[in-house]
Amino acid sequence: MDFLQLLGATGLSILFLIAVFVPMEKVFPAKRGQKIFRPHWFVDLCFFLGQYLLWGGAVLWVLSYFSHYLDMIVPAGFRVAVQAQPWLLQALEVIVLSDFLIYWGHRLQHRVDFLWRFHKVHHSAEHLDWLAAHREHPLDSVYTIGLINLPAFVLGFPLETLAGVIAFRGIWAIYIHSNVRLPLGPLRMLIGAPELHHWHHDLDRDAGNYANISPLMDILFGTYTCPDTEPERFGIKENFEKSYVGQLLAPLFPKKVWKKLKRIIHS
Ligand SMILES: [Zn+2]
Ligand SMILES: [Zn+2]
Repeated sequence: MDFLQLLGATGLSILFLIAVFVPMEKVFPAKRGQKIFRPHWFVDLCFFLGQYLLWGGAVLWVLSYFSHYLDMIVPAGFRVAVQAQPWLLQALEVIVLSDFLIYWGHRLQHRVDFLWRFHKVHHSAEHLDWLAAHREHPLDSVYTIGLINLPAFVLGFPLETLAGVIAFRGIWAIYIHSNVRLPLGPLRMLIGAPELHHWHHDLDRDAGNYANISPLMDILFGTYTCPDTEPERFGIKENFEKSYVGQLLAPLFPKKVWKKLKRIIHS
């Protein structure tokens, strides 16, 4: 795809997301009165554009590079047996396995300091809406998208067949960040909802709700939380870079090294 096509696709995507989410946020708002151009919207827009124009292709390249190694690990006979199953069963296995991996992978992102260094970029958003969903360090994306696709790679399930599921996960990830409250009732226990993920973005680093679609894994492993109130504040307790470039660069270095580098840049 050349750059002009990429630019066109990015423009269409942002128009589509605006058409879907802006009316929903206006009609069913979680935080009433939150403006479209709320503070720090521009940093989130940079993350959106960066993801579409710069990092998206690079992330896919890294993943396909590693998939060759996986090909060598999994015996071909095992894949043939997996692929001999009915399609629906395969799809179900991939969804459950991905959910399981994302859940534990996400808990590790919060527990292991090295992973948190990248994941805290996502959590540094102080205002949540559909645009804030895109605030993610590219290496954090490699990690998450890798986990989502790993079972499909390993089981030898053709990615094209799963494209629908993967696209649905993507749009759902945006929805759970949106400033929306739909009266879903108990249905949210099955398909997830923004209020659950908004609690995940509470200032507390261990706030729970680590699943990205169905909260079943959270319920199963005891991290499900759904208070009737709204979180008071979103974000992180640590001091962190506010600019787009700062947020991209800071996680690449240990804190002390980054501090020294900044002093050199500013001197
Ligand atoms: Zn998180
Ligand atoms: Zn989030």
